[in-house]
Amino acid sequence: MDGAALTASAQSGESGAFSGSMARPAVLVSACLLGEPCRYDGRACACEGIGALSAAVEIVAVCPEVAGGLPIPREPAELSRGRATTRSGVDVTEAYRRGAAEAVRLACERGCRFAVLKERSPSCGYGEVYDGTFAGILVEGDGIAAAQLAKAGIEVFGESRIDELITLVKR
Ligand code: SF4
Repeated sequence: MDGAALTASAQSGESGAFSGSMARPAVLVSACLLGEPCRYDGRACACEGIGALSAAVEIVAVCPEVAGGLPIPREPAELSRGRATTRSGVDVTEAYRRGAAEAVRLACERGCRFAVLKERSPSCGYGEVYDGTFAGILVEGDGIAAAQLAKAGIEVFGESRIDELITLVKR
């Protein structure tokens, strides 16, 4: 799937979670959690709770790194001092920022108040990310896209909190 598709696709879940004229809320979701093989290693990381979420909301898929112009597969990157750098030392911050801006644009255009983003990713991680040493060490911090989405007022959930979001939107 190309970058445009990764920022434009939306999936409708089954109807019935909401009745009458109540519109289902739109939720921005990391494309890799939906099964898109867009991770740096060319794989997906489909999330178990996505089916239940899809039944309750309108899914808006985005892969910020691909939307920012990076290929699949690509070298892994981590964050350090606000910059995204690959394992071999290439600074990819600008591509990450372009992708973050596209994610915010898409979320605003589709009226998303919530996002479910892949935990620990240098783009999508929220609350904790790897420390830039490529040694598997987690530190407090947000991925570049997650930070921009939160700044735009979108409430960000990691995939481990998907049930919490489902409960919230069904209220
Ligand atoms: S974590 Fe975010 S940037 Fe990384 S592959 Fe998934 S959607 Fe793309």
